Amino acid sequence: MYWESYSHQQIKEIVFDALEQNLDYREKPVLGLPASYLDTEVFYNDAPFLKDAPFLSALIANPNHIGCHTLNESEAAFEGTHKIEKELIDLCAQQIFEGGNEEFDGYVASGGTEANIQAIWILKRYFEVEFKVKANEIGVIFSEDAHYSMPKACNLLSLKSYVSKVDDTTRRVTKPSIDACVENAKDDGVKHFIVVMNMSTTMFGSVDDINEITGWLDDLDTNYMVHIDGAFGGYIYPFATDNLDYTFQNQKINSFTLDGHKMLQSPYGTGIYLTRKGFMEYALTEEANYVKGKDYTLVGSRSGANAIAVWMIMRTYGAEGWKAKIKQLLSKTDRLCGNLNERGVEYFRNPKMNIVTIRGKYVSPALAKKYTLVPDSHGTNVKWWKIVVMDHVRQGVIDSFLNDLDTELG
Ligand SMILES: *Cc1c(COP(=O)(O)O)cnc(C)c1O
Repeated sequence: MYWESYSHQQIKEIVFDALEQNLDYREKPVLGLPASYLDTEVFYNDAPFLKDAPFLSALIANPNHIGCHTLNESEAAFEGTHKIEKELIDLCAQQIFEGGNEEFDGYVASGGTEANIQAIWILKRYFEVEFKVKANEIGVIFSEDAHYSMPKACNLLSLKSYVSKVDDTTRRVTKPSIDACVENAKDDGVKHFIVVMNMSTTMFGSVDDINEITGWLDDLDTNYMVHIDGAFGGYIYPFATDNLDYTFQNQKINSFTLDGHKMLQSPYGTGIYLTRKGFMEYALTEEANYVKGKDYTLVGSRSGANAIAVWMIMRTYGAEGWKAKIKQLLSKTDRLCGNLNERGVEYFRNPKMNIVTIRGKYVSPALAKKYTLVPDSHGTNVKWWKIVVMDHVRQGVIDSFLNDLDTELG
């Protein structure tokens, strides 16, 4: 995994150059586009600091990234910044997910939810088109720790879902529950499966054992396609391991979701969907006639500034800078776990992730409230509380939490 880090000066030049290649509503006679720059009464484009602020300048220029820019032609009006989005998709697919020189498709979605829905929609269309089956012959398998965007997608797309169980302590998907999912699905007339694996769940930071689970599915003689939900772990896990199981080197994997607006700290609206070539086409909306290059995405118009923001963050750090940042967060998490061990407090943690999920009985609601810990479910019967070690989680705050915990544990 490698990509170069750029200086602020280099980033500025690339972004301003791209904006210049876009159509300028001020300089060209633009009569037909139902779009424009941001309202100048409110967002003046002559504020002096904008010359130094590529992201804010992109926001104000307001390029529309409608469509998918890794495919064919797209709206020439915003060609300059579309190229930045294409580079971003290439960086994610080829560098983070080790795709080598292979080409991939993808786009910056509104979030992990949209990217997961896009993935399930595409695989549903794949089975419908290639195997001539109906929606009721396609099932979606995911674990009980998976994100709620999976049941949301199944509901929207009228697909049956089969939820596998996990062990309460290890959060590992169990074999009997996968067997039961497949058996129940076959009883329901399901012939093809969309399998979603977690490259870190939201609540535990647990990572599904992809080889084990695909091995079980192979033994059961199932026809399936795999999507990886890396909305939480996508900018963490691959930077903490050399293992290639959760990369495009693993031929079983068809697509990935990752979220810029979690660990990467980009603005909301920066989910990313990545897929192998040949799949984006299943989401083609033939009727999108007014969009040059048509549309292959769930959302329609979307902000080019969002793609630029994610690209800027990745280019500022470079691969080595981002690895170093993740390493530092993981060692802060190691230290917290050591402190919990000394106190005999039970928790779940994947050593390659920055989430520590503590058994409910060790934490009072008052303590959880004081430190804004997040419960597994909001209600009276909280089984787990989680800590996510982000940039803003300073050692001093962890120490004061541990002090308060000591007082409670007595
Ligand atoms: C946050 C998250 C999502 C959904 O992402 P949004 O950006 O909030 O739509 C999906 N999956 C996982 C694992 C997540 O952590």
